[in-house]
Amino acid sequence: MFIEYQKERDCLFFLGAGASYSDGVPLQKDIVPEILSPKDEEFDNSELRKIVCAFITNNFSYSEESNTYPSLETIFSYIDYFIDNDVALCKVYTLEKLRLLKESLVKLIYFITSKSAKSPLTKREREVKGRENDSVYSFLWERAIETNRNFSIITTNYDNQIDDAFDRWLYPRHGLIDYCIDFLNYTKEDGLIGFDWWVNPREPIPDWDNCDPRPIKLIKLHGSLNWKYCNCCSQAVLTPWNKHIDLDTGELPRFDPSWMGDIDNAELCPRDGYPLSTLIVPPTHSKILKHPVVQNLIYEAQLEIRSAKKIVFIGYSFPDADIHIKAFFAKNLRNDAELTVVNPYLTEAARQAYRGLSSKVEFIEDSFEQALESGLMESVVGKNA
Ligand SMILES: [Zn+2]
Repeated sequence: MFIEYQKERDCLFFLGAGASYSDGVPLQKDIVPEILSPKDEEFDNSELRKIVCAFITNNFSYSEESNTYPSLETIFSYIDYFIDNDVALCKVYTLEKLRLLKESLVKLIYFITSKSAKSPLTKREREVKGRENDSVYSFLWERAIETNRNFSIITTNYDNQIDDAFDRWLYPRHGLIDYCIDFLNYTKEDGLIGFDWWVNPREPIPDWDNCDPRPIKLIKLHGSLNWKYCNCCSQAVLTPWNKHIDLDTGELPRFDPSWMGDIDNAELCPRDGYPLSTLIVPPTHSKILKHPVVQNLIYEAQLEIRSAKKIVFIGYSFPDADIHIKAFFAKNLRNDAELTVVNPYLTEAARQAYRGLSSKVEFIEDSFEQALESGLMESVVGKNA
């Protein structure tokens, strides 16, 4: 059967770093200290960490005592300067080595963010708290079930917490994720096992018993740690559910839930065997937005801004590195759109940035979780018909 989008969206949620932080994912500014400080033997002596730490130590200065570190933006911008301009740093850091270094850094971030994420509650904790999961994203999806699900989400976070929680709560009874990009997983060609297949909500979907799924756009504007890109066949590949990365080889095993174990590694393109690279837009001062996949996401994000009656910003404060996002809103925001900003730590400068977008802004000084508890979802999205 076909599931169709309505012409307009009741609400668009725009999630910033503060949203994932509520879910245990470290803030960008804490990632570099996390990488540099020793944890356990597996992490400390791993090849990936050695490569990244050596680079940081040789090129930047930092002090544990005064808690001063180079920012992640600075490190990525520095590496990208060489890669984008096609020049090497020195005989040790050749262009090839710098590309490997960048990929190693992305993998370490993947490791740190998936390790720190909140895990499901125990049975006893569930009874006390009265809900299934401690994850705020689980809570979001749990509340979404009660609505008409005519909303979409744009997130600047590239961690997988929101995707994993969707799978537990909505799929396939209440919703299907529409990532708004084309994945190799939509084809059933050789080299893909059944587990790799993914239902594309823009094509006819199976008519499952007792299911009434709605397509929900989840636009991960800065990419996702579970997306890979093949530079040979120019296809994006989705590698869901793999959590543990081999910190020595950098390999990412594919997780197969049918026997709760790993199968071969998800590092190579299933179509042509070419090594895949992680599809994220690293936090740099001059973000590279020319990637064809990112271009597609930008197009979809603007479409959603234009069709949204209400926009709710959660844990977002228009950082300087996100000037492109300000431009998307300035160009596409409807005159009658109602804006709500949920953020307990909003500075006056950030408030003014929102007021600059629209005169109709409501500020809610609650955490993401408190706002959901107070019925945010039900008040901005229509009731389930
Ligand atoms: Zn390929």
